[in-house]
Amino acid sequence: MPDYESHEHDVLVIGAGGAGLRAAIEASAAGVRVGLVCKSLLGKAHTVMAEGGIAAALANVDERDSWKVHFSDTMRGGQYVNNWRMAELHAKEAPDRVRELEAWGAVFDRTPDGRILQRNFGGHKYPRLAHVGDRTGLEMIRTLQDHGVHKGMDVFMEHTVVTLLKDGQRVVGVLAYERERGRFKLFRAKAVVLATGGIGRAFKITSNSWEYTGDGHSLAYDAGAELIDMEFVQFHPTGMVWPPSVMGILVTEGVRGEGGILLNKEGKRFMFAEIPDNYKEQTADNEEEGWRYTQGDKDARRPPELLTRDHVARCIVREIKAGRGSPHGGVFLDIAWIHKRIPNAAEHIKRKLPSMYHQFKQLAGIDITREPMEIGPTTHYVMGGVRVDSDTQMSRIPGLFACGECASGINGANRLGGNSLSDLLVFGKRAGEYAAKFAKEQKPGAIDGAQLEAAERHALAPFERGGQGEAPYAIQHDLQAMMQDLVGIVRREDEMQRALTGLQSLWQRAAKAGVTGNREYNPGWHTALDLSNLLTVSEAVVRSAIDRKESRGAQFRDDFPDKDPAFGNVNTVVWKGPDGAMQLRREPIPAMREELKKVIEEMK
Ligand SMILES: Cc1cc2nc3c(=O)[nH]c(=O)nc-3n(C[C@H](O)[C@H](O)[C@H](O)COP(=O)(O)OP(=O)(O)OC[C@H]3O[C@@H](n4cnc5c(N)ncnc54)[C@H](O)[C@@H]3O)c2cc1C
Repeated sequence: MPDYESHEHDVLVIGAGGAGLRAAIEASAAGVRVGLVCKSLLGKAHTVMAEGGIAAALANVDERDSWKVHFSDTMRGGQYVNNWRMAELHAKEAPDRVRELEAWGAVFDRTPDGRILQRNFGGHKYPRLAHVGDRTGLEMIRTLQDHGVHKGMDVFMEHTVVTLLKDGQRVVGVLAYERERGRFKLFRAKAVVLATGGIGRAFKITSNSWEYTGDGHSLAYDAGAELIDMEFVQFHPTGMVWPPSVMGILVTEGVRGEGGILLNKEGKRFMFAEIPDNYKEQTADNEEEGWRYTQGDKDARRPPELLTRDHVARCIVREIKAGRGSPHGGVFLDIAWIHKRIPNAAEHIKRKLPSMYHQFKQLAGIDITREPMEIGPTTHYVMGGVRVDSDTQMSRIPGLFACGECASGINGANRLGGNSLSDLLVFGKRAGEYAAKFAKEQKPGAIDGAQLEAAERHALAPFERGGQGEAPYAIQHDLQAMMQDLVGIVRREDEMQRALTGLQSLWQRAAKAGVTGNREYNPGWHTALDLSNLLTVSEAVVRSAIDRKESRGAQFRDDFPDKDPAFGNVNTVVWKGPDGAMQLRREPIPAMREELKKVIEEMK
């Protein structure tokens, strides 16, 4: 057996974003030894970028809000293919998780009477997002880190996990490499929690950071877990489109929550043109009412800019395709117009949206208090992920748990903004709790030297091929371009079949990728290792999207533009077959409990 530096824990958490930190805190509180491994520095996880807020039915701003409204908003937004039990737990537990965060030191924006302030966001019936300006993720990470480090967990920064190790069916540890020196390390654990985030880097235009290469999805898949709903990739309607160097960077939905409107090049507010039937009752049919809603008028209905992200993104694409887009291929998002409605509008915008003000000023030379922004859709979030038990977050592999963006279920076909940060807290806590419970019931498993050797051989193969092999960046670039063009917001069978063929050739090229230099901070090597993760998740997206022959939520099929009731009650499941090929099946969603059906009926 190779002789690595090794560490032993009861629970090993992979990922130090909101989900991983919350899981690690809970497992530590249960009295077990906890290790936390992350690919970047502590504090740099993607969660730190979250802007708009955390969705929780605290009912601080509108007393009509409750877990029932939040539950039915989440199910409606997800077009009813969500795991309803997860949506129920999430809606019920999110308020406690937010209050707990406050008790641990998070300084939220306040209502005049000192309670946590909540803002409007797309698809949420009432103002529901607890926030800290537009820097909520930073406050969340800071608070969880401060709380977590005092719990005594061991933190391993800049370590990338490359494989999960198994003893029979059970997961018993991981092999990781230290990015700084390139050395391998063995982590033994009785339970492993994946909290590795999303897959946005499989696409060319994305709001996601370099870390989002689908590692957790792919590690779980290779270890025998199932992935579900991978066809549902969220394209956020508002990313920056200009200059090219910043294309894809997110423009928070908070801009629309504060009254921002979408305009085409003719200056027309185009979102009123098409309001989906299931939202007609809840949506304003005139500009005056929409404005009153954003200003807190409880009798007004939401403006159509605050419809769900899938719908808003498609309307933007429609305008661009019809030749009514902005000069750089997007449309306009205007918050400056509110100076017609309120005094001191510029100060108000800077106070409510400080990051957006600086982002546009510094990156695009635009003053958003005076001019409209140019925006267009950007790959933002993946609803699909590791299939887990709704209550415990354990996958079908004993000892392997998943939470946060790399797990799936709660969001169905489309996630509502703000529901990710609350998901991290609710299901991060649950994953930590049940992983600790599982670990307490187990003896340490045996580590198989052959698995370690195979993983090391695979990881070092790009060095063997050296300069003779193809540069990994070229392969990554071609994959991203192909996914963007052929499997993006608008999908067709023929294009996706071309993507499937393209993936076969990319797999072959990845197997021949080569890198030069040594193992210390070698980004070429890191990219070469990311490739198989990116290819696995891309293949899962393409196969699942081909199979779902309908349009629902984030999946829009040009060749099947309507919802098909036959798909309204199924999840798409993929897993690795015995021969290594990806398998797929449709699985019926279990019938919802009667009392929850009633809740949805009541809230219609
Ligand atoms: C710009 C932006 C704004 C957003 N705003 C909001 C918002 O306002 N509200 C909301 O609800 N959602 C928002 N989201 C979505 C939300 O931020 C994410 O879905 C969420 O933060 C994901 O958290 P996580 O804990 O699952 O993963 P992350 O925070 O991404 O953490 C992943 C961790 O896994 C580690 N990791 C990954 N792979 C490996 C590996 N192989 N080995 C070791 N470690 C690994 C990483 O280093 C990192 O520590 C936003 C997203 C973006 C991009």
